[in-house]
Amino acid sequence: MIEVIEPATEKVMAEVPRAGADEVDAAVAAAKAAFGAWRAVEPAERAATLRRLADAIEAEAAELATIEARNAGKPISDSRAEIAMVIECFRYYAGAPERLLGRTIPVAGGVDMTFREPLGVVGLIVPWNFPLVIASWKVAPALAAGNTVVLKPAELTPLTALELERIALGAGLPEGVFSVVAGPGSVCGARLVEHPDVAKIAFTGSTEVGRGIAAGAASTIKRVTLELGGKSANVVFADADLEAAAAAAPIAVFGNAGQDCCARSRILVERDALDDFLSAMEAVVKTMRVGDPLDDSTQMGPLISAGQRDSVASFVPSDAPVAFRGATPDSAGYWFPPTVLAPVSNSDRAAREEIFGPVACVIPFADEAEAVRLANDTIYGLSGSVWTRDGAKALRVSRGIEAGVVSVNSNTSVRVTTPFGGFKQSGVGRELGPDALDHYTELKNVFYATDQPREG
Ligand code: NAD
Repeated sequence: MIEVIEPATEKVMAEVPRAGADEVDAAVAAAKAAFGAWRAVEPAERAATLRRLADAIEAEAAELATIEARNAGKPISDSRAEIAMVIECFRYYAGAPERLLGRTIPVAGGVDMTFREPLGVVGLIVPWNFPLVIASWKVAPALAAGNTVVLKPAELTPLTALELERIALGAGLPEGVFSVVAGPGSVCGARLVEHPDVAKIAFTGSTEVGRGIAAGAASTIKRVTLELGGKSANVVFADADLEAAAAAAPIAVFGNAGQDCCARSRILVERDALDDFLSAMEAVVKTMRVGDPLDDSTQMGPLISAGQRDSVASFVPSDAPVAFRGATPDSAGYWFPPTVLAPVSNSDRAAREEIFGPVACVIPFADEAEAVRLANDTIYGLSGSVWTRDGAKALRVSRGIEAGVVSVNSNTSVRVTTPFGGFKQSGVGRELGPDALDHYTELKNVFYATDQPREG
């Protein structure tokens, strides 16, 4: 069995059967058997099934949000927003079956047309930081495009994925179209990656595991989408609304206790504005409400595990340049205070590696050119922000930053309707928005000869 721990109490909240390679093989076989019928479902009916699924999730939204908040240790207000996004995601992609349009291309001798064909059985592997919402970014477009799906949640957070499997069956998804295997990555994830009947792997997780998945997928030429780590820059120019930038910067790192691939954990501040920015930020960090995930007013919960807390702590040794920190409860739970390191050099370990915890590095810069150079001096390229009142500079720097998702005077990264994904070692492919469907379909070209047969 998998013992599922509640990180805010360190107690077991549930036990679920641990799947192994045999369960993966059975789920893939069921998905393979279900594929032909599912891809043949008429577009409007497949759309209706996905809408019913969205409605069924909505009917259980409060319970799902509570399970997620307890299991992942995230504030209930965040958890409610995530479940709302899951519902929105299924509703958005419910529009897709009737909009998977092809093209006609002018050619000699006939008609040439393209089709978007489903891939077959798709294996989805997701992490523990945003368990159900990241799963929905993959499940919804995969099903909408006519694929069948086997989802492997993280071992630490399998509960909402298992709930989704139950809800999907209840909403009328045929047997085998969507199933969940909850087990270790090294066993269940690895089996999905090597399985000859799996056409594609869509993975979200660490860059290290992503490298192994890319290598493993090569032997069967599987399609792969990888959403990996990040070390995003939040670039604050002296001409920005400094109060607004400083008020927004903490939650852009400490949201989800920093366990967010989009965490803007390198805060680049123009040197002239450094003191003003830090003093405005300090007030916000010191009053952050860190505590019980189920309390409506909580802004930050615990880390996911004791191991994660140890790993985060290793980035804040006793001689670290801690500028200021928030507070944590002294009860049981994997707590770590929101911590701001300043000033930090971009070559320091804390600025180079993904900490995946509530630790921010403030890095001063002299001018626009240095800001862009520092922002890009990383192996990652997931997201980033630019704060300035100069519109042309905002656009120049946004274009200059090597990242998949950049926001101006905002720290948002993710919307159901817009593409999300990384440059460089932050990944391959795009999720969400219209582009995700390209990654769950193959493009087929059909030529149909229409010339009259020659007489005689
Ligand atoms: P992880 O890479 O350890 O695990 C992710 C998933 O992969 C889990 O389900 C795990 O069981 C599975 N897995 C582990 N080893 C495997 C193997 N050998 N073969 C197949 N599957 C395997 O990541 P994590 O610790 O769960 O999550 C944190 C990481 O995820 C961070 O690096 C974070 O940046 C990244 N992340 C990225 C995004 C994004 O969209 N770019 C979003 C969230 C998290």
